[in-house]
Amino acid sequence: MPNYIKKKKTDKPKKRQASQSTLVKKLDKVFSQYIRLRDSDANGYCRCISCNRVHYWKDIQNGHYMSRRYLSTRFDEMNCNAQCVACNIFNQGNIQMYRQNLIKKIGEKNVDYLEYKAKGTIKRYSIFELQELIKYYSVLVKKLSEEKGIRI
Ligand SMILES: [Zn+2]
Repeated sequence: MPNYIKKKKTDKPKKRQASQSTLVKKLDKVFSQYIRLRDSDANGYCRCISCNRVHYWKDIQNGHYMSRRYLSTRFDEMNCNAQCVACNIFNQGNIQMYRQNLIKKIGEKNVDYLEYKAKGTIKRYSIFELQELIKYYSVLVKKLSEEKGIRI
C-alpha cells in the first residue's frame, strides 16, 4: 500500500468540515463588509449605486448587479456595490439605474462581461476555495477599516 493511503494510528478523528452552504454564508458576510468599506468615504459613508443617496456603511447593503443566485458573479468585486435597502430589497435592485451607474464606474464592456459571466458560465467553489476567500476578505476588511479609520 502506498504511503499516502496508509493512516497513522495516532491520527485523531477528523473534525467535521464546515458545509458548503455555511461557508458561502460566511463569505457573503465578510465580502459584504469588504464591498461597503471599499465604497465608503473616510467617514464611513457610501453612495447607493442606484439612487445616489448617501448612507452610513452599516446601514447600506452589498447590492449585486447580477443576482446573487448566479454563483459565478456572486463574489465578483465588479458585480457588487454599496446599495441602499430601498433599492436593493424594495425596488428589486433598481436595476436600470444600477446598470447606468455601473457603466460609469467600470465601463460598458465590463458590464456586458458580468452579464455573460453570470448567465453563461458555471462556478463551483470547493471547500478549500471558500475558506481561502474568507481568509482573504477578512484580511482586506481589517486593512480597510484601519486605513479609513472606520470601526467595524
Ligand atoms: Zn438606493
